[in-house]
Amino acid sequence: MVSRAFPTPGHDHGACAAQALAAAEKLCQARGARLTAVRRKVLSLVWQSHAPVGAYDLLARLNKGGGKIAPIAVYRALDFLMAQGLVHRLASINAYMGCAHIGHDHAAQFLICKDCGCAAELESPALRKALVKAVAGRGFTIDREIVEISGLCPHCKAS
Ligand SMILES: [Zn+2]
Ligand SMILES: [Zn+2]
Ligand SMILES: [Zn+2]
Repeated sequence: MVSRAFPTPGHDHGACAAQALAAAEKLCQARGARLTAVRRKVLSLVWQSHAPVGAYDLLARLNKGGGKIAPIAVYRALDFLMAQGLVHRLASINAYMGCAHIGHDHAAQFLICKDCGCAAELESPALRKALVKAVAGRGFTIDREIVEISGLCPHCKAS
């Protein structure tokens, strides 16, 4: 469980990325959503690693080799990918990460390693249930829920 959330540093990441892109294509096709070339490229760049990436780093990666894609195009692509649940924005570090289990109900909690920068979804239904109950107990209505936890991943802790 833990090792799946934070794959070992030497794992076959090409397989992770390929799997994520294939799943994204399938999902978009099923929904009739257009995964255009730019959107697909942005998604593949987000999936370059398990460390969330900022919009301007994405833009730099995108334009590496002399491309001239404007920042607004990157933000639009990210908006689309987020709306489809393919990418998550981590508010605490203002960066984006690929979703490793698309199609799930998405009230997730995020774990962010302050050492290697990798992030993973905790996806704890029990925690979510407790949170919703506690919030309702205050008579408060949830609009946007951001649960991000900074710390050390198992690999950084071990080294
Ligand atoms: Zn990977
Ligand atoms: Zn997700
Ligand atoms: Zn780490």
